[in-house]
Amino acid sequence: MRKQVITKILIALMILATGSISAQNDSKKLSPTDYSIAKISAATAKGDLETLSDALHEGLDNGLSINKIKEELVHLYAYCGFPRSLMAINTLTDVLENRKERGIEDEIGEEPKDLTEGDKYEIGKEVLAELTGVEDRPNAGYAETVPIIEVFLKEHLFADIFKRGVLSFKEREIATISALITMGNLAPMLRGHIGIGMRLGVTETQILQILDYIDTEIDQESALEGRELVATLISGVPQDSETDAADYDKKKIFAKGEKIDAPVFTGTAWLNFLVTADEVNRNAAGVVTFEPGARTYWHQHPNGQIILALSGVGYYQEKGGSKRILKKGDVVKCPADIPHWHGASPNEEFVQIAITSRVDGATEWMDAVTDEQYRE
Ligand code: MN
Repeated sequence: MRKQVITKILIALMILATGSISAQNDSKKLSPTDYSIAKISAATAKGDLETLSDALHEGLDNGLSINKIKEELVHLYAYCGFPRSLMAINTLTDVLENRKERGIEDEIGEEPKDLTEGDKYEIGKEVLAELTGVEDRPNAGYAETVPIIEVFLKEHLFADIFKRGVLSFKEREIATISALITMGNLAPMLRGHIGIGMRLGVTETQILQILDYIDTEIDQESALEGRELVATLISGVPQDSETDAADYDKKKIFAKGEKIDAPVFTGTAWLNFLVTADEVNRNAAGVVTFEPGARTYWHQHPNGQIILALSGVGYYQEKGGSKRILKKGDVVKCPADIPHWHGASPNEEFVQIAITSRVDGATEWMDAVTDEQYRE
């Protein structure tokens, strides 16, 4: 429970940090029709028909054609299933009738095309390559287990559906991203589609805009989970060539601080001392950034220690125990007087907050963690 609360606080801080960056890119917000596509998708995926009805009216008012909306609800059946799609189509029927009664004439728009020629599997493969920018992707694990699902994905989703036109690939991806965030617990697919969306020109600001909508109108929990995933993508991947080191550093919650110049670390580590202990609060707190491969020597704390993992991939090991992998949000309550070490994994840096009381004495340092021990 405590872990969840801390995770939420950290995410909130991360969101504040990324929010300030996004504020500079207001001009890059979604167009009204793209925003309506995202709203319709989230409400459909949630099955929130009242919110969907509002989103459909707003979309039509914004100039989204009837056929674009119909096409979006067809597209969505591939992502959230026929039941959600059919409920949404029924809602669209009601909305269109209501508008007709009120004398509103909405634009019908482009008609979809049926795929009648060519090898659907090959067409689907080409569409997927166009979306991802990668030719001949190796088959995913699910395709090894159940090969037919990969055939259905290519022939049906990426050929039959994607080739119907009416919606651009970018519009389809906006709908998909919004649906996947809403449904939740779909990190690998969401990560993939955010990558595709960004390739097609969807910006970080626009994804945050979709998250804000889902947060306030659809599902707070899903929005929170989506923000966590987006935060890892944004902090891990520089957005463009102009992103310099200083800019990248700003996206982190805390500054890196000073390089640690102590003979009790292997490799390079940085310390930003956040809180000094005093008579009232006996805990000191600091952020440590371990560069890949960097780690502490074996040591122990007379009052134990709390480690909060902020980003990257790290290790924690108590003497005689097995090595634990630490990722963002992990919490370690290290017992008093137990020899242990912590640090980064070989290929990724690790950022942690250490909370340490020294009421019963300072940290006691021992030997270096040998390469053999580190790799074990
Ligand atoms: Mn320690």
